[in-house]
Amino acid sequence: MEYSALLQLYKDRFNSEPRVFRSPGRINIIGEHTDYNDGFVLPAGIDKEICMVMGVNFSDTFNLYSVDKKECVSFTIDTYKEVSAGWAKYIIGVIDQLVQMEIAIGGFDCVFQGDIPLGAGLSSSAALECATLYGLKHLFNVELSKKEIALIAQKAENQYVGVNCGIMDQFASVFAAEGQALKLDCRDLSYELYPLEMQGYQLVLVDSLVSHNLASSEYNVRRAECEEALAILQQNHPHFLALRDASIEDLEAQKDEFRPVVYKRAKYMIEEIARVGKACQAMTSNDLPELGSLLYATHAGLQHEFEISCKELDFLVDFTRDKEEILGSRMMGGGFGGCTINLVKDDFVEDFELSVSKAYEAAYGKAPAIYRVKTSSGSSEITASLLING
Ligand code: ADP
Ligand code: MG
Repeated sequence: MEYSALLQLYKDRFNSEPRVFRSPGRINIIGEHTDYNDGFVLPAGIDKEICMVMGVNFSDTFNLYSVDKKECVSFTIDTYKEVSAGWAKYIIGVIDQLVQMEIAIGGFDCVFQGDIPLGAGLSSSAALECATLYGLKHLFNVELSKKEIALIAQKAENQYVGVNCGIMDQFASVFAAEGQALKLDCRDLSYELYPLEMQGYQLVLVDSLVSHNLASSEYNVRRAECEEALAILQQNHPHFLALRDASIEDLEAQKDEFRPVVYKRAKYMIEEIARVGKACQAMTSNDLPELGSLLYATHAGLQHEFEISCKELDFLVDFTRDKEEILGSRMMGGGFGGCTINLVKDDFVEDFELSVSKAYEAAYGKAPAIYRVKTSSGSSEITASLLING
């Protein structure tokens, strides 16, 4: 991001003393829909982020300017609920949480911009919340751990924006580390970092640009199906708290007791939770081909057993199968649209981008959006030296 240009926009508008904060979007290497089964996810921060220039203005007024939306809003603690701009809700939601926690903050000025594509499943919303809270922590010397930042940001999105997201996005935006992926245990929020050595390969995201309306209704159905499976398993294993506690052997032992569709859902889930562990092993031993086959295995599970893929995503994954320069591919995110994540050899990336665009356009009448991403670190302050250099 052009930090110095953003800083200039701030100085053109406000007189307060600026500081610069950033927080990244994220990908998820593997571990899809595992969060609400107390399982593991494996996100990484990406080199696309929200950058916020913020300064204490020693008044009771909050002034926000969105460079991308070209819109300014101003409000106070007494009037923030009247602000209608959709983008401002992510920032105000964070302020609202601090108000509820009786944490005192004063007025501030803010100019912000992002290069995370909106609504593509790369969590621009979490990046916006986390950058806001990370900035406010430092501007007003609020005692908040990284974990508290992630949890408060999630609550802001749940309660103020009204989106019932899990903790992965905010956790990844705060805790991400360059060159690493974060294995997050969704049961107790403990985490470990694993090295993601790219060894001449790149992560390429291909955005199908479709979002089927099924996503939210089917999400609720999948949650209910996982609960149904758990209830049956609990008859033999009363101590199970979530599908995370079951093995494939446990599932097989009661196979006849499940509705066939519920058996399939549970099988995917138990295998997917195990695959996160296998992916971490593959990363530890720098085995990218193994990581790639795990991506394909996840896609197969999502397509045939969990059934949350769609023809566009299957097309994009199938397109990679006969290409030896591509180690793996799968749909990423909640399902029924969004991006595929692909592990592509450096010198094949351009070729792949051109050919997949052409093929997708021929099939579906529009070219996909494509993003090359690198891993990046979590929420941070941009210091003066970095501002001068770029
Ligand atoms: P995702 O988190 O997958 O990108 P969401 O729908 O959860 O998609 O969040 C996108 C919303 O977040 C946008 O509609 C907008 O309100 C807000 N947002 C994200 N990035 C920006 C930005 N750079 N400028 C203004 N608003 C943003
Ligand atoms: Mg979001």
